[in-house]
Amino acid sequence: MSGKKTYIIGNWKLYVGVTEGQRMAERIAEGASLKGQEVVVCPSFPLLALVRDAFARAGIQLGAQDVFWEAKGAYTGEVSAEQLAEAGCRYAIVGHSERREYFGETDEMVARKIQACFRAGIVPIVCIGETSEERAEGKEEEVITRQAAAVPEFEEGNRVVVAYEPRWAIGTGEACSPQLAQQAAGIIHESLQKKGWDNAAILYGGSVTAENAASFCGMPSIHGVLVGGASASAEEFLAIIRSCKE
Ligand code: PEP
Repeated sequence: MSGKKTYIIGNWKLYVGVTEGQRMAERIAEGASLKGQEVVVCPSFPLLALVRDAFARAGIQLGAQDVFWEAKGAYTGEVSAEQLAEAGCRYAIVGHSERREYFGETDEMVARKIQACFRAGIVPIVCIGETSEERAEGKEEEVITRQAAAVPEFEEGNRVVVAYEPRWAIGTGEACSPQLAQQAAGIIHESLQKKGWDNAAILYGGSVTAENAASFCGMPSIHGVLVGGASASAEEFLAIIRSCKE
């Protein structure tokens, strides 16, 4: 990983309450000493401002867990990329497997959300990955390539982060092997390169802990980790940040 920026991204999902999240953010800000790392925390929407203020001087970035593709209009309950940018977000997770599975998010919707992020200067963290059935049928390459196709052609000024998150590894305690993640990162890298993305960061996500994070960060085509469950503990998240230092 030498010379590469390492990303440690925490997805708090719906695990963290408001008061608890404020305390956690303060603890993370106090305990993290970043070295060549981009640390991002993605809390629920009601926590964004509190977490932003706690991170103000710590160099830790704020991200959202989702974003809507329109900028304004009669879309009750939705949050635009422009609102997120104004609220201090630099990143937004797009196409998380839980949104695909429980909320019917399609590749087309993911593509629109990515464009909305670019329009507002937000870096989309695009999640892609196959189910265990798709892997059993040998379809993982097809699925990864199809989902990665939601990322448009590179244009100057845009940045994207892609997280390989095999669905069978999410929240199961059964992380993918670093070798398999490296292989998937190679497939993603190839499809992005065809669209002019030479320097997109590719992360691994799925049951990452302080014990296994460094084994993913150490793979040549993997630029860091997206952490779900383990990021809901400030101490575990700090241990992951420490373990992924060069
Ligand atoms: C995630 O939700 O992006 C994730 C990787 O979850 P977990 O770390 O809990 O598997």
